[in-house]
Amino acid sequence: MSDLNATYRNNIITVILIMSLMRRNDDVITGSCYKCQSYTDIYKKSIIRDDIGLCLLCFCNAGPTKITKNIYLSDCENAKKYGILKQLGIKQILTIGSEIPKHKTTDFKTMHINLDDSPSSNMYAYFAETYKFIRRDKTLVHCMAGISRSATIVINYLMQKNRITYDEAYKICKKKRPIIEPNLGFIQQLKRMESMMKRIGYFKKL
Ligand SMILES: [Zn+2]
Repeated sequence: MSDLNATYRNNIITVILIMSLMRRNDDVITGSCYKCQSYTDIYKKSIIRDDIGLCLLCFCNAGPTKITKNIYLSDCENAKKYGILKQLGIKQILTIGSEIPKHKTTDFKTMHINLDDSPSSNMYAYFAETYKFIRRDKTLVHCMAGISRSATIVINYLMQKNRITYDEAYKICKKKRPIIEPNLGFIQQLKRMESMMKRIGYFKKL
């Protein structure tokens, strides 16, 4: 009986070890893309399945990334596929990009922000407005590539909604969509928001 217990315990330990190893490796690796077979940087947390990897191009073409049950994040091309957005239950589209044409659709509530992907662009000025917009309904947030501007808006939303720090919100977003990378100016603006939240005692009491 005690032997059986020991075997059982060893199995549990092995499973925990394997799981922790898997968790460490779930970001970017070098390998073959599941779709186009090219050997390059592979993003393992794809929207298709967690255990297969896609190259940057195939990842971006795969569709909007689900960040939480109410927020999706994508590039410009996927934001035009209204049929797919409807299937996902998305009701609103939030666009950030002065170079991106406005959506001409009455099927979704839309919001368009004219900002360039430049560290000096004032994202901070839109943090309150975009937070209120996203909170209303299931929203797709997108910019040109779904890497910097849209990710910044989503991170700000997660910080305010969940009362969490920049680092925590960044990790949530990065885990779901490994290609996100807010530019340094945007990170500073998000940290400014974090300081403001700290000052007014907005964070969750742990
Ligand atoms: Zn590929």
